[in-house]
Amino acid sequence: MKDSYGRTIDYMRISITDRCNLRCRYCMPEGIEVIPMEDLLTFEEIVEVCTQAALLGIKKLKVTGGEPLVRRGAPSLIGMLKKIPGIEDVTLTTNGVFLKKYLNELLENGLRSVNISLDTRDEKVYQSITGRDDFSMVMEGIEAAVGAGMKVKINTVLLEQCNAEEWPGMLELARKYPVDVRFIEIMPIGMGRNYRGVSNSELIKKLKEKYPSMKKDDRIHGNGPAKYYTIPGFLGSVGVISAMHGKFCDQCNRIRMSAQGEIKPCLCYGNAVDVRKVLRSYEKKDVQRKEALCRVLEEAIIKKPQAHCFEKREEITENKKMVSIGG
Ligand code: SAM
Ligand code: SF4
Repeated sequence: MKDSYGRTIDYMRISITDRCNLRCRYCMPEGIEVIPMEDLLTFEEIVEVCTQAALLGIKKLKVTGGEPLVRRGAPSLIGMLKKIPGIEDVTLTTNGVFLKKYLNELLENGLRSVNISLDTRDEKVYQSITGRDDFSMVMEGIEAAVGAGMKVKINTVLLEQCNAEEWPGMLELARKYPVDVRFIEIMPIGMGRNYRGVSNSELIKKLKEKYPSMKKDDRIHGNGPAKYYTIPGFLGSVGVISAMHGKFCDQCNRIRMSAQGEIKPCLCYGNAVDVRKVLRSYEKKDVQRKEALCRVLEEAIIKKPQAHCFEKREEITENKKMVSIGG
């Protein structure tokens, strides 16, 4: 379906939990309260929403969180989503800690592509960012996923205060493995407001200095706004996602659903439509249920604003933490 600015909306990110095993300082600080389980959409409800979304033209789904792999049965949900008519691809975003543990189940359920968030290759820096000592488990997850032939993207957020100089180490992953290493600019959402991110334009300058033979890579790597580069001798590519210093709202193709069923038209604004209310106010057999679901999904797409306003902080109306939105 097209939104009111003519953009085709065919991608939905679905957060399946607001819980997480890590405490990344810019996302989920210690002590944050979580939503009661009964307020989260059940898997059955998630599948119902996605089935309706597919009828409106959503073709790609990303399962995210919180940490999706801490919700029991997450691999089987991926299997269910993959079976929805019209859904062409289902991918997962994870912090990687439990990836090795669930890899076989994920593969059995048809997962072929995974995004792994990792901000450093230094164990101490990892501990200081995430509050946990699980670095080696993430590395094992990356190796296991690559070994199983999965398409792997590694997402890194560079913060002036914590890991600004970690990019050369992260790039080594793209040298050694056929993975895309992507640098994502921090956005002023939730705890992210307290941090200054490294600008990708500055980063690209540094990359070009270190790797003068780096070239733009025009192949399509996915369905997002990343720009890619190749470096001779590297098995993988390097990507940048520059929400702050390279606004790409004119190509935005997505909506987001939170774990409790709020569909957000844009990351920047707090407004959302409530699919849980629809699902829980109509009986399953009620013919109006589908129609009502369709109407709220359409509303979310129609209400997509033309652009985010991250550069004007006073206009940002989203007050939730990223962990409950899903990134
Ligand atoms: N737990 C999973 C993970 O870490 O991949 C999925 C959820 S997490 C919210 C998704 C992504 O959002 C992570 O890559 C994280 O680094 C990123 N993220 C969190 N807060 C952010 C912010 N304020 N700006 C940009 N990215 C952010
Ligand atoms: Fe958890 Fe992912 Fe947020 Fe880190 S970025 S706290 S792993 S949800």
